[in-house]
Amino acid sequence: MFFRQLFDPETSTYTYLLADVDSKEAVIIDPVLEQIERDISQLSELGLTLRYALDTHVHADHVTALGQLRERLGAKTVVSARAGSGCPDLKVGTGDVIRFGRCALQVRETPGHTSGCVTYVTSDLRMAFTGDALLIRSCGRTDFQEGSAHTLYQSVMQQLFTLPDDCAVFPGHDYKGRTASTITEEKRFNPRLGAGKTEAEFVAIMAELKLAHPRRMDVAVPANLQCGNLKPPAVDGTGLPPSR
Ligand code: FE
Repeated sequence: MFFRQLFDPETSTYTYLLADVDSKEAVIIDPVLEQIERDISQLSELGLTLRYALDTHVHADHVTALGQLRERLGAKTVVSARAGSGCPDLKVGTGDVIRFGRCALQVRETPGHTSGCVTYVTSDLRMAFTGDALLIRSCGRTDFQEGSAHTLYQSVMQQLFTLPDDCAVFPGHDYKGRTASTITEEKRFNPRLGAGKTEAEFVAIMAELKLAHPRRMDVAVPANLQCGNLKPPAVDGTGLPPSR
């Protein structure tokens, strides 16, 4: 399987491009609207056909490129059935499988950061794309978007820490230059969830974080519920943008 990790420095978001090398069918996970030209040129240089564009959840920190990739490349858009999104072609949940050529991704619901978070796992269980459910030595916040530390703890324990120890963890973000981890590393070293942390300990850690709201949340969440289709700027009867 072809695998490429891409990065948006503005929001520290990872996007993943996967493809079946024989059929050249591809999927992209968590594409960022501002990086759409980069991603489309990668696909076209490599001769890949984008079958599916997947989001791990409704993001609060960047606008998704799902809608644009559907419009420009004919990809089918995929979001969790529990995300409340109005736009996807496929609304998925645990047990669903996304196939591209001879490759496939399993869907595992991992709510808690948001109620509609999913993790995509390759069918050989060697790679997990965890979105913000499990980050490297960290995890997504649980204080808005129907977040729940109790729910996130159960998701990680039941859906992620049950994966093989050598399964690679590819997160939705990293803010410290790290690119990947493994299930065994996170079980041992994740300061919030690893080393046998109890649910009560995790809930207490999350309650103490007191994070500021993401800068782009008010724009990103409504746009992402529509696959990233931003409202056009307001225009008057002339069709021109309003004068200042
Ligand atoms: Fe997030």
